[in-house]
Amino acid sequence: MIDTHCHLTFPQFVDRVDEVMANAAAAGVSQVITIGTSSPDARACQRVANAHPCVWFSAGLHPLHCDDPNDWNELRECARDTRCVAWGELGLDRFHRTPSLEHQRGALHEHLGHIVQWTDQGLAKPIIIHCRDAFDDLIPILKASGLPPARFVFHCFTAGPREMQMLLEFGASVSFTGVATYRNAPALREAIAMVPLERMMVETDAPFLSPEPVRSVRPCEPAFVVHTARAIAVQRGLAATELESILDRNARVFFGLPTPDPAHAAS
Ligand SMILES: [Zn+2]
Repeated sequence: MIDTHCHLTFPQFVDRVDEVMANAAAAGVSQVITIGTSSPDARACQRVANAHPCVWFSAGLHPLHCDDPNDWNELRECARDTRCVAWGELGLDRFHRTPSLEHQRGALHEHLGHIVQWTDQGLAKPIIIHCRDAFDDLIPILKASGLPPARFVFHCFTAGPREMQMLLEFGASVSFTGVATYRNAPALREAIAMVPLERMMVETDAPFLSPEPVRSVRPCEPAFVVHTARAIAVQRGLAATELESILDRNARVFFGLPTPDPAHAAS
């Protein structure tokens, strides 16, 4: 399987990436994308990706990090690396009170403007969106950017049917975390039932959001993505192996990942 979104550069994984990737391989997770949250973090992601044949990375400015040091030119330079498979994560977060929404909006507009420019410079990449309690604000902004809707994935979708309808009408893909396995999320389950299978992906968002039945295990690791896929397979009435191969194919096509090389299965 593929974990399309985790943060191997976060403090929980310092000096543990080898072990975490070995755990992933043992669970059948053969490819992982580690997500940048600012230009210094994207550089760190790049180092991890270049040290591990099963790891790819993204470059972007996270809305909750929009007041952190960030250099747009550095982000663009990171993205010239062939192991950089996406822009992001970027977006809006109305759940947390800082940074202010005004700062988040400013950073988002700047970021989308750069992505349009970088696309013209030959750096067309998929775009990973962080959207928390902000669908009504964010979707019109993404539409106005003029970037093709099919290039966007809304990661860690935890909202309900209304927001899913907006996302699907916009034309983006959607990715689910361990939250999809929690019993206390009936609106999310309803939303999951609405998604065309070809627009669905899974992720861990590790070190956060461990799925059931390993919810109490901290930190969450890429290996745990298999639990989220299994829970969704049950919800959608599919065999786990059938859904896994659909999710893997979706992620490979969306991010342009190669078919995994068995020789590197444990790296
Ligand atoms: Zn993330």
